[in-house]
Order: sequence, then C-alpha cells, then structure tokens
Amino acid sequence: MAGRECGACGQCCKLIGVRELEKAPHVWCRYFKRDRGCGVYEARPRGCADFACDWLLDARLDETWRPDRSGFVLHASDGGRVINVELDPTQPAAWRRPPFEATLRGWAAAGAADGLEVRIWVGRRCWRLAPSGGEIDLGVVRPAVAFAAHGRLRRPGSGRDWPPGATSV
Ligand code: SF4
Ligand code: SF4
Repeated sequence: MAGRECGACGQCCKLIGVRELEKAPHVWCRYFKRDRGCGVYEARPRGCADFACDWLLDARLDETWRPDRSGFVLHASDGGRVINVELDPTQPAAWRRPPFEATLRGWAAAGAADGLEVRIWVGRRCWRLAPSGGEIDLGVVRPAVAFAAHGRLRRPGSGRDWPPGATSV
C-alpha cells in the first residue's frame, strides 16, 4: 500500500518460502542481514519482489500487527479466499495474544457465509478457525519441502471488504 514500508521487519524473509532460492519456510534467508535487510535487494527474486503481507497492504492493521512485532505474517491464498496466519514456530501461541485471537475469530465468523476462512499455521500443521469458535485441526498438510509461491494478492472486491474492521473485534 502507498505510504507503508517494511522498514526493519523482514519476517517474511524467515517465515515464507522462496522457490527461486530453494529457501524453505521458517528458516532465515541467507541474504537477510539484521538491521540491513535484504543483501541482494536490487537482484532479489521475483517471488520476493511480488510478495506483500497483509500488514503491508492493509492500513487498518495498526503497528501491533507488524509481523516482527506480532510474531506472524498474514498472507492471502486461494485467490484471497483464505487468510493465512503464518506463525514463527518459535512463538506458536503468538496469535492468541490480544488483540489478535479475538480479531482473527471475528474475521472467521464474518467470512464464513461467503466461504472465507482463517487458517493458523505452525510449520507444516494447520488449523482452521471455526466460525462458531474453536479450531478444526487439518493436520500436517504442508509438504516437507514447500517453497511457497505467493502473489501480491488483493482480495476480490478490493478495496477490501474482508476482513471487516481489521483492528476491531
Ligand atoms: S512480513 Fe510484510 S512487512 Fe515484513 S518484510 Fe515481509 S512484506 Fe514487509
Ligand atoms: S532474497 Fe532478500 S527479500 Fe528475498 S527472502 Fe532473501 S533477504 Fe528476503
């Protein structure tokens, strides 16, 4: 989004896989330097250049949601139908801290009638937030080696009708 920048974040350089580099999710990219960011920025792969997390795209998510502060990267998949909460496996419960859990559950409830989902990821394991509360364990559904390919996604209808009221519950 215009006006918002990654700054010192860099969480996707750990949590998101990059096919071109054969970088698996959840390990730091060899080119990432703390305090200096991407060491090959001008020549970074397309998969990096095209990726933007939801915090970067959605001004309604305040600084609390910046991925290096929250402990997870929000990103869309399935053409925007799914919001993925990609947790740092060293902080698997980060999504439960206020205001995150209540907000994420609110999104799951609000999107259910339209087939929209919120999924919680810890490594290869996934849970779907049930619209009525609780989680549905989808099990280990991510392949052992998955270089996630992410597009710079905006959801259908965007200017973004979902999630609703991103920082409210
Ligand atoms: S996780 Fe989001 S804000 Fe952080 S570096 Fe990646 S795209 Fe930028
Ligand atoms: S190449 Fe750069 S932008 Fe891409 S994951 Fe590595 S450090 Fe991050």
